[in-house]
Amino acid sequence: MPRPIQATIHTEALRHNLRRMRQAAPDARVWAVVKANAYGHGIERAFEGLRGADGFALLDLSEAQRVRAMGWRGPILLLEGVFEVRDLELCSRLDLWHTVHCEEQIDMLAMHKTNLPQRVFLKMNSGMNRLGFSPERYRAAWTRLNALPQVDEISLMTHFSDADGAKGVAQQMAVFARATLDLPGERTLSNSAATLRFGETALEPDLAAGATMASDWVRPGIAVYGSAPDFPAHSAAQWDLRPTMTLGAKIIGVQTLQAGDSVGYGSSFVAEGPLRIGVVACGYADGYPRHCTTGTPVLVAGVPCRMVGRVSMDMITVDLSPVPAAGFGTEVTLWGQAANGAVLPIDEVAHAAGTVGYELMCALAQRVPTVAA
Ligand SMILES: *Cc1c(COP(=O)(O)O)cnc(C)c1O
Repeated sequence: MPRPIQATIHTEALRHNLRRMRQAAPDARVWAVVKANAYGHGIERAFEGLRGADGFALLDLSEAQRVRAMGWRGPILLLEGVFEVRDLELCSRLDLWHTVHCEEQIDMLAMHKTNLPQRVFLKMNSGMNRLGFSPERYRAAWTRLNALPQVDEISLMTHFSDADGAKGVAQQMAVFARATLDLPGERTLSNSAATLRFGETALEPDLAAGATMASDWVRPGIAVYGSAPDFPAHSAAQWDLRPTMTLGAKIIGVQTLQAGDSVGYGSSFVAEGPLRIGVVACGYADGYPRHCTTGTPVLVAGVPCRMVGRVSMDMITVDLSPVPAAGFGTEVTLWGQAANGAVLPIDEVAHAAGTVGYELMCALAQRVPTVAA
């Protein structure tokens, strides 16, 4: 028997979350962002749940190839564009749309020999200061692209730094709107947080026309995978998002502690009285965050329990007090949905580790057998 740990990808939840994002931006088309191997879900496993999207957005050419191999003939967008001229040949061959965020990428396009002009998404740095042309240089970049025979259609793109937080998106929106006012082309602005929080809001109506969140394409990633982009301000359930990944394992050993006994490396947890401890076949080498400490929530037979002591490479230990009947072989849910329907949001576990749901999903280890259900 293989070690009792398994991840399950929930196809129906992916479908639901995608519908939810459509509802949040009813006039936009939806890119399902599937970078980082569909946020750790596996592109091939997630595909069935996401095929209702209008397009797939990702980073790697190899991921684009995998999406095409699934039979997808619709739009695919490379969110960081190409990294060398040769990549443009694959863009032509696989019919990929790609982001253009710097002069070097325009140089590459100018060098690319093709008679199939490509669709590009010209990215503005509207304040995040990561990728993109400054508002002052944006128009010149657009003009340069527009003159290239290699370029077919130019769409306009930016990315928000604070869509999930107090600062919000109004300032970046205003910058983007002002600098693109009379430029033709489709727009794409919003990630999950912006789509959920501001999807239907017309911000700063005093701004020049066009300064609303309404855009032609939205780019949700994390929300599609059932994690709240602004946790703990909102939970996934509050946004009506369902978990798409369950990490489950079993108890493979039980210990009974007396007052003063400790558990695991560093003896970081010491029992105050008699305590049954379940040893679970899941550790940091499976992708469970090592930064979780005593008190991190975990479900045993679908009942809320707490992790105690340090996370080891292959095991964690849990306090079985709430489930006296638990023992060898009992189901443990590290995040996601238990057999009895109880849900442990991935965001709560991430929070206990001082990180975000994104990181936990993406870090699911190769060695964990994963199935789509
Ligand atoms: C990753 C990414 C997204 C999706 O972000 P979420 O917060 O997961 O919704 C959208 N746009 C770009 C450019 C990205 O890199």
